[in-house]
Amino acid sequence: HALHGAAGDGSPLGEAERAVYEQVAGENAAGVLAHVGPRDIVILHDPQTAGLAPHLERAGIRSIWRCHIGSDAANEEVERGWAFLAPYLEPVDAFVFTRQAYVPALAAGREVMLIPPSLDPLTAKNEDLDAGTVRAVLAHTGMIAGESGDGPVSFTGQDGSPRRVERRAEVVRSGPPPPADVPLAVQVSRWDPLKDPMGVMHGFAAIAADTPAQLVLAGPDTSGVADDPEAAHVLEETIAVWRGLPEAVRDRIHLVSLPTEDVDENAVMVNALQRHATVIVQKSLQEGFGLTVTEALWKGRPVLASAVGGIQDQIEDGHDGVLLADPSDLAAYGASLRELLAQPERAEALGRQARETVRERFLSVRHLGQYAELIERLDG
Ligand code: UDP
Repeated sequence: HALHGAAGDGSPLGEAERAVYEQVAGENAAGVLAHVGPRDIVILHDPQTAGLAPHLERAGIRSIWRCHIGSDAANEEVERGWAFLAPYLEPVDAFVFTRQAYVPALAAGREVMLIPPSLDPLTAKNEDLDAGTVRAVLAHTGMIAGESGDGPVSFTGQDGSPRRVERRAEVVRSGPPPPADVPLAVQVSRWDPLKDPMGVMHGFAAIAADTPAQLVLAGPDTSGVADDPEAAHVLEETIAVWRGLPEAVRDRIHLVSLPTEDVDENAVMVNALQRHATVIVQKSLQEGFGLTVTEALWKGRPVLASAVGGIQDQIEDGHDGVLLADPSDLAAYGASLRELLAQPERAEALGRQARETVRERFLSVRHLGQYAELIERLDG
């Protein structure tokens, strides 16, 4: 939260927090060190792992620290976050950031490379799914209405083995599940205040009378994301706001928690939901990059997303998606959503271009090439 410029839980990031952080990093370091040797280069991701860098240095192992988050504008919180991390980042051999605006002062004069994230089109999250499979996955999990007796759906796991979607989603709803032919506006995100699930609902509620569409907010089952302790609380708050909406609107909003025990199974559920969506929304208030946006663009969906953080690098407004200049402007969000839902031809043209944008700039081949370049640089 601090690196995003937000206060989070109000923590001062002081000595007490530092003591906990260092203790956990120390415990984890033993596990990492058991797997690496002097010729390895370890790529550490995000603030959670920065504390490992001094341990690696002491063992004579080089490290790259990759930060996926950042703020376009600095404020006191951002500075507090960097001050907290600074001592651990002293020994890293190189930094990777998603965009120039995220490079902090402490990286000045050091090895820095800008590498935006990417997606792998061959994984369960992104591989092509035919319409029948999409429908079957969504009906089996309970996200849309389906024939009773629809059984588990087959898919191919990451390791190439035949697998089945067995588990069901937990859905908070007051009306029936949406039939397959009802247009859906969908946001897939962790339950996090910076993803603004309340705003997504309020904005939809204001235009609900003008559209036959329904809204799905989907996120991981809150017990499933170990480094996201506030998720359960945010989901509870989201449900409370949903309860306060007029019944006719509430019946058309579905709050979906996807099971996370099996990563591939969860990925197929996300894949199917993104493919089925009429419009994908990502109304984040802050966003490091926004992989959910990349994933939706790759699936040729029209995406309506906030012009914040890395989303600005992915969508050119009106060309391959629609950007919300001010994500807190619910009226503008509602109007854009209503338009996109009502203009299937425009939506399709945006979606077609969206897939091209990802093909050109956000696939894993580009990403691997950049990693290779950086590692070659470190190896002299
Ligand atoms: N995601 C998932 N299952 C879920 C919800 C989200 O796999 O139930 C994935 C989503 O598909 C994306 C990632 O979580 O790949 C979220 O990345 P993003 O950059 O959008 O946001 P972050 O969560 O890192 O803030």
